[in-house]
Amino acid sequence: MKLLSVIVPCYNEEENIRDFYNELFRNDSFFRSKEIEVEVIYVDDGSKDHTVAEVKRLHEEDKRVHLLSFSRNFGKEAAIYAGLQKSRGDMVVMMDADLQDPPSLLPEMYSYIEQGYDSVATRRVTRKGEPPVRSFFARMFYRIMNKISKTEIVDGARDYRLMTRQVVDAILAMTEYNRFTKGIFGWVGYETKWLEYENIERRKGETKWSFWTLFVYSLEGITAFSTVPLTVAAVLGALFCVLAFGLIIVIIVKTLIFGDPTSGWPSMVCIILLVGGIQLFCLGIVGQYLSKTYMEVKKRPIYLIKEDI
Ligand code: UDP
Ligand code: MG
Repeated sequence: MKLLSVIVPCYNEEENIRDFYNELFRNDSFFRSKEIEVEVIYVDDGSKDHTVAEVKRLHEEDKRVHLLSFSRNFGKEAAIYAGLQKSRGDMVVMMDADLQDPPSLLPEMYSYIEQGYDSVATRRVTRKGEPPVRSFFARMFYRIMNKISKTEIVDGARDYRLMTRQVVDAILAMTEYNRFTKGIFGWVGYETKWLEYENIERRKGETKWSFWTLFVYSLEGITAFSTVPLTVAAVLGALFCVLAFGLIIVIIVKTLIFGDPTSGWPSMVCIILLVGGIQLFCLGIVGQYLSKTYMEVKKRPIYLIKEDI
């Protein structure tokens, strides 16, 4: 028998816990035919509703269901990490509780693992049901990110992935505090098969992401997987130095030859403002990396467990 660990990060998903369970075990005959044993690990990310109670109820009915609950909300990345640490399976799959990651895809995903792939990932090819502005910025993010990072980050990639134990251990070896999972998957490499499907809208409840939280998340992704912004800051500084030297020489020569009285105070103010702005901008970029380094150096735990059933 092989063991498959299913990791389900949940934050205020009380309505979806049971639906997810039912949907997952629709694959029961498939699991049996392939001699796969299943453990489901619901990771409660500090939910404020009855998510924990729902999972406990399921656990009473079926001992294949496990619960890890956090002391507060640590974010989905932390929940995934905790689930991976807890998992004992020969294979691990991560899925959202809201059924946007269809469990019916599992047999196909498993067939690729059988063919020798180390990991089977999914991406959605449409962004149906999403505000157009959000889709636009999401596309921009992936375009920029792939230009400035050596790690490949696939547009529309979901966290829905089936992986072998080897890949899981590689991901667990990355103990960084700022966990940008999409980047981590790309960074570890291994042979990955990509499956595509149309976006499925969330079954019940609401998305936990606003435009603003997604924006902040994208900045985290950039600082976690690229240092190009630092180079941009340095290059900008150098360019402005060269420009300034050129201008100084021009002004000195002009004054010596024509003896012009200095003029142009309004343009001077503009230049000072521009350069000051660029300086602050670059300082901000450095600050971003410094703050990430600060959090990393503190070595705080990525999550804190309240209950482990
Ligand atoms: N989630 C989590 N912690 C959070 C936010 C979300 O564990 O702080 C879980 C959530 O319960 C769901 C998954 O992450 O299972 C994806 O969240 P959501 O559906 O809100 O994101 P979307 O699909 O809209 O990108
Ligand atoms: Mg969702």
